[in-house]
Amino acid sequence: MSHPTYLMSRMEREDSHTLAGYEAQGGYKALRKILTDPIPPQSVIETVKDSGLRGRGGAGFPTGLKWSFMPDREKDPRTRYMAVNADESEPGTCKDRVIMREDPHGLVEGCLIAAWAMGLDAVYIYVRGEYRLPYDRVAAAIAEARAAGLVGQDILGSGFSCEIHMHKGAGAYICGEETGLMESLEGKRGHPRPKPPFPAGFGLWGQPTTVNNVETIFNVPFIMDRGAEWFRTMGTEKSPGNFLCGISGHVESPGVYEVPLGMPARQIMDEFAGGVWKGRELKAWIPGGSSTGFLKPDAIDTPMDHDSIKAAGSMFGTGAMIVLDETASVVRSALVLMNFYEHESCGQCSQCREGTQWLAQVFQRLHDGEGREEDLELLRGIANGMAPGKTICALSDAAAIPTHSVLRNFADEIEEYVREGGHEAVMKKRQALAGAAS
Ligand code: SF4
Repeated sequence: MSHPTYLMSRMEREDSHTLAGYEAQGGYKALRKILTDPIPPQSVIETVKDSGLRGRGGAGFPTGLKWSFMPDREKDPRTRYMAVNADESEPGTCKDRVIMREDPHGLVEGCLIAAWAMGLDAVYIYVRGEYRLPYDRVAAAIAEARAAGLVGQDILGSGFSCEIHMHKGAGAYICGEETGLMESLEGKRGHPRPKPPFPAGFGLWGQPTTVNNVETIFNVPFIMDRGAEWFRTMGTEKSPGNFLCGISGHVESPGVYEVPLGMPARQIMDEFAGGVWKGRELKAWIPGGSSTGFLKPDAIDTPMDHDSIKAAGSMFGTGAMIVLDETASVVRSALVLMNFYEHESCGQCSQCREGTQWLAQVFQRLHDGEGREEDLELLRGIANGMAPGKTICALSDAAAIPTHSVLRNFADEIEEYVREGGHEAVMKKRQALAGAAS
């Protein structure tokens, strides 16, 4: 089980978060190369395009292509920004905090290269408020880099200038949605904006803006240092590179692991996370954060990359796997998720505001033993009403997808909850059966 790694390669050193530790391991080499004998911004964008890097924040959109949407500076002289999405609030997702905590200069260097490529005036890093140590480490890295002439005016004497600012979120899931994040950065309530207009034309304070995830930007210095072809030696043709897989739930060793895109989910679960804990059987798994839904064990050999997971009926999302063992209740897990989405809906769209409440209420009554046979169809109808394209942002879909997945893959458990009279009765019966079998 050996494969080339790079994302976590510097993190073993105790001083990996400092400028000295970073530079001792080749840090800021890519930026120096770009600025010393200047590589034209367009060539940087072309290299990122050629690498095939896809966003690691959920949508998997090609990063170089996204950067190329920024208007030509000659024709559009407006101030331009990048917002780095470090809000990381999708349940199950815990990878960006590792980058910010252990290798913050890698993120800073990535921001500066992106700024050169897109001609940015400033970068805003929007960090989830609970991430105190990661926030402090990135802030310290920016201060160190500034003192070394790597951030601010006339970087490394090149004439290129870029500021990097940080912002702490206040704990709203919806601020991880790119337009909600921008509203929040502008000092307003984090309500998503309708699109179009898209951020590249009308972003922060109405200026051209690109929004990228932490892990996406963290990949950029490696690509610029080692080349697009090197990057394509890992992962799959359509999803090159490695990714940081956060795996949680009922496994022996939950954690964040660096794996190549395209590695089968079973291999990640068994070889990295030690398999389903206590020698139990797998009951269900979520491939990429809570909004990607529950899959059955028969899909566990699916390669973890964007297209393969899509073909299996789900989404790669943030690549955050959640594992449920044979004793777990999918109905109860769905209830936990629906309570979360209900709480986090910003309330602008009726389908989302009402739909998330209704889903939570129906799962609650199933759980409490008040479920009805017709609840299956009721859940389907509510989730259909929250379908993509009907709301301002994707939170509504994020709540509907897990519901659809339960109906598709675990309808028998819903029926069991109706038949047996709720969670307590189901658990008692299962324990009795397990006792009789042993
Ligand atoms: Fe708000 Fe939900 Fe509409 Fe998104 S879909 S804007 S979270 S109400």
